[in-house]
Parts: sequence; structure tokens; C-alpha cells
Amino acid sequence: MCTVRVLVWKSSGRLADGREIIYFDESPGLGRASVPDQRPLAAPAAGAPSPDTARGPDLQSPGLRWDALTGEWVVIAAQRQDRTFLPPTQECPLCPSRPGRLTEIPAADYDVVVFENRFPSLRGAVPTPDPRTPGPRTPDPRTPDPRTPDPPTLAPQAPSPQAPSPQAPSPQAPSPQAPSPQAPSPQAQVGPLETGGVAGRPAIGRCEVVCFTADHNASFAQLSPRRVRTVLEAWADRTTVLQAAPGIEQVYCFENRGEEIGVTLHHPHGQIYGFPFVTPRTARALGQAQAYAAARRGNLFDDMVAGEVAAGTRIVARNEHWTAFVPAAARWPFEILLFPARRVPALPELDEAARVAFCDIYLDLLRRFDALFGLPLPYIAAWHQAPAGDAFARREFGLHLQLISIRRAPGKLKYLAGTESGMGVWINDILPEEAASSLREAG
Ligand SMILES: [Zn+2]
Repeated sequence: MCTVRVLVWKSSGRLADGREIIYFDESPGLGRASVPDQRPLAAPAAGAPSPDTARGPDLQSPGLRWDALTGEWVVIAAQRQDRTFLPPTQECPLCPSRPGRLTEIPAADYDVVVFENRFPSLRGAVPTPDPRTPGPRTPDPRTPDPRTPDPPTLAPQAPSPQAPSPQAPSPQAPSPQAPSPQAPSPQAQVGPLETGGVAGRPAIGRCEVVCFTADHNASFAQLSPRRVRTVLEAWADRTTVLQAAPGIEQVYCFENRGEEIGVTLHHPHGQIYGFPFVTPRTARALGQAQAYAAARRGNLFDDMVAGEVAAGTRIVARNEHWTAFVPAAARWPFEILLFPARRVPALPELDEAARVAFCDIYLDLLRRFDALFGLPLPYIAAWHQAPAGDAFARREFGLHLQLISIRRAPGKLKYLAGTESGMGVWINDILPEEAASSLREAG
């Protein structure tokens, strides 16, 4: 149990090529951010993608192309083809540096560390200085937030203060019939490569890597509750910082685990994306929630959780502050949604009690996953958060974690084949109620 409030010390520095690195330490005075990166890395040619990026095949900068048939943006990031791919342990770029073996993390050790991805799909968004961290090695001031009786560890978490950026879509949530309403603004039309009257645009945003532990051979499920709490504080902090950055509409924290999922580095880590648009899945969920509210039926997220609790057949685990269940229309062989009992739009708004309780229930769920077949389960853990500049979303969206696995049996994986990839129609081979029962028994 992580039942005591914990402190996390945040400090940031720069890597040799100018990328930001942020340490989230579990004790003060370690000086990790001041350790220089001694690698001879060249700085990127420009701080942000060129406006011409979307015009054609630029291998250095990612670009956004508009899919006129689906109304969705596609990120073209050809420069990622050359990224590090499953290096041997002794060449892992996420282990701490040691003499003669310089990595992405200059310090000799770390607890949790976040840095800008060297091979980003989105780049160029510049977060504003974080007023909560006046300087390196300074513990968080922990100014109480009057809205939360028990303030969280790293920072007073103001809810989405900024107005939508000039590139922001309409604050109106989409209609449920419109798969993606993120119609680009005129400012976005910077290149001649038009599809359906919409020009491509530079893929401005932010991609960060989150290392959960310096232990190369660990996994998230093996972390201590204390470390999970530090990771949670890092996710919340990065959400606050990135969603305030000009041009970023939605912050997405996630972990891919397992070669079957497509990880290219074995070291336990996750990623954070700052998207310059609202993602299609979130837009659709908001559209559904808006239609639900317009029909005077209440809040869709609240009612979904209440319905699952009442039914009970798909509940996997619960504690006072969180509920985990297999959704009735689960798409994946094993899929869990984890909702806080007190609905909040995003991670920074979780109160202290919810943060404490998350550590235990999330570790419990991950261990159930690995116990299902007696072997490490490949999974994706995806945080669904409200877009920063959408007033309806800030008021009505329900933060939740989606935990999914592509394994349907030992030796068998779920592939997105003809119906899923071609038509977007999902076929699940496992009854969600049976999946929930198996996950309950795996605890
Ligand atoms: Zn490693």
C-alpha cells in the first residue's frame, strides 16, 4: 500500500542536441539534471517542422495529411524508419549512462525520467515554462488547491486554464454521426498537397518517452506502489505542462508492452504524445456524450460505470476510488476500462485519495493480465483524457485508462484483419463476460 503522501522532486535539463530531459526523483538533492550529456549529437536543423513539411517527402520532419474519406489526420513520419530497433541489452538507450556507455539518460541512475523522443512523430511544440518548478533541485512548493481538500503531490493542478489555440477546432463536440469533426482551420492550410480541399500541415506537437525504472529487466507490474505513484505524478505533470503549450489539443499517455505489440525497446517505458488535434476516438466519445446529454439522459461516463457496477457481471476489480470492468462491447480479447469513482476530465484533476488508490488497483490489474496465461501478456495501456480547450469536454468527459491485450490464447494473437482494418467492424472471439470472469479468477 502506498498510503502516505509522497513527494516527487522534478528537475529538467537538456540533452546534447537540445531536447529536454526531466527527472522525477523520489528523494531530493540528487543533481541528476545537471549531469551533462557528453554525446556528440547534432541539434535538429530547426526547432519546429517547416511549414513546407506537408508538401512532400521530407525525411527530416513529420507532416499531417488529411484523409478526406474518413475526416481524420494521418501523421506521416518517414524519418522514424531509422529509429533504434530492439537493440541488445548492452546497447539499450534507456539505461542510465555509465563510463564508456553513454545513453539517452546522462545520469548514473534515475527513478522516473521523461525526455523528448529522438525520433518523434510530432515535434516543435514549445511548452511554456512551468511555474511550479522555479529551478533545478527545488522541491515542489505544494501550494494547496482550494478545490481539492487533499492536494496532490507535485503541483496545484488548475483545470485547463487556457483558451483554445488558434488552431483549435470548434468547442462544439461532434455529432455522433461524424467520425472526426476536426476540420482544419484556414491557418492549417499551408501546403499545396490538398485532399478534399484540405491541405496538409506540419506535424507540430510533442513526443516524449517515460522511463519507469532504471532496471532494464523490470516491467511495470513489478514496480513498487511508490514507483507507480511517481509515474502517475509524472503523467499528471506532463499533462498539465503539455496541454498548456500552444498548438497542443490533447495529451495522451500510454505504454506499449511486448514485442507482439510492436515495442522497439525492451526497457520498461511508455510514451506521451501532445497531439495538435483531438484524436478520432476522443472526438467520437465526446460526440456520444453530447448526444446523451442533449437527450437529458445525464452523463454518459457516469452512467456507464454505474451500469457496470449494477450489473456486476463484467467487473474485474474495485476499490473505494476506482472501478475496473470489461466493457460490454469489448473489441479486444482482453480489455479493461478503469474509471475513478469521482469523475475528472484528466489526470491532473485526480485528488490525493484517487492517486493513492490507483497504485494498488493498477498493479493488481497488470498482475491479473500476466497471470491469465502464466506468461507476460502483451498489452497497451492508454489514458483517455479530455482535450484541453474544449469546455464541454472539461465539464463532461470522464478520464479513464483502457488496458487491452491482443493475446486471445497461449500462442494466439488477435490481428486487425479484414473486417477491422478494411471496414472498421470489430469481431471479438471472447465473450466479454467470460473475459471478466477469467480476469477475476486470475487475481
Ligand atoms: Zn535498458
